Amino acid sequence: MPERLCKNAISIMNITCTIREIQSLLRREKNKGNKIGFVPTMGALHEGHLSLIKCAKQENETVVVSIFVNPTQFNDREDYTQYPRNIDQDIRKLESYLSPEDMIFAPSVNEMYAEPDNRVFHFGGLDEVMEGLHRKGHFNGVAQIVSKLLTIIEPTRSYFGEKDYQQLVIIKDLVRQLDLPVEIRGCPLIRDADGLALSSRNKRLSNSEREAALWVPHLLFRARDMYATTTIAEIKQYVNDQVQSIPHLKLEYFEIADETQLSPLQDKQDSPYPRGFIAVYVDNIRLIDNVKFY
Ligand code: AMP
Repeated sequence: MPERLCKNAISIMNITCTIREIQSLLRREKNKGNKIGFVPTMGALHEGHLSLIKCAKQENETVVVSIFVNPTQFNDREDYTQYPRNIDQDIRKLESYLSPEDMIFAPSVNEMYAEPDNRVFHFGGLDEVMEGLHRKGHFNGVAQIVSKLLTIIEPTRSYFGEKDYQQLVIIKDLVRQLDLPVEIRGCPLIRDADGLALSSRNKRLSNSEREAALWVPHLLFRARDMYATTTIAEIKQYVNDQVQSIPHLKLEYFEIADETQLSPLQDKQDSPYPRGFIAVYVDNIRLIDNVKFY
């Protein structure tokens, strides 16, 4: 599908599907002395993605948005095949945000993985808790694709959402390990008016599932309010009991962790910067969320 778009390239924006072409377009921008802001996405764009793009537009002369559903970061085949894809709609949304010098990079799987990527990354335990514990290989796949994209594009700055907070911490570590000359910028989590964290997967929720999903932010904020007066063990028990009582929901984890080390806390003394992290299945749709507790 990306090839079809590239062949019929729409005039006002640069849409490219090959590494060669994006690099050639970028050379032109870099020769002008332009700073490049890069926003990697898996498409099915919503206001959360668009907030990163707005931020990138404010801080750089040229913005690159990539749209690529990366197979190596999915530990669940069905989640990969069911992942929402609508590149035509994505391009229409981007048209009102991007300027003629900006670029959309929408490569195919073959373009990104012409050869299998066998690299194994280590993140000193950051990848062994929460998402890393429950989605085996997920962060290795994220590290593979993000390191490839950052090497291809060589942006000045790259933008990631706090929606995937653990991912943001791991990418900062990846860039440090590989000495990549890019500034990683974290951007705030954007919620719908009803509190649900915006996510491409929300598109798959039925009305009753969406109603149940609203308990996810509700419980996180409730847990945050309890934090001053209640033990961590009691808060965890409370969240667990509540999720169990709500139809459609199944808790995968709820942790209160230090936001830099990501180690789940047993004792409040162990971190001045605690954050609540949750992953919940709404029937077979997996949602994550997090909230600062300090
Ligand atoms: P994805 O397309 O899910 O891989 O997300 C691409 C980027 O958008 C990642 O850096 C995400 O953290 C970020 N993002 C996704 N949802 C939100 C949101 N609700 N608020 C802020 N950033 C988000």
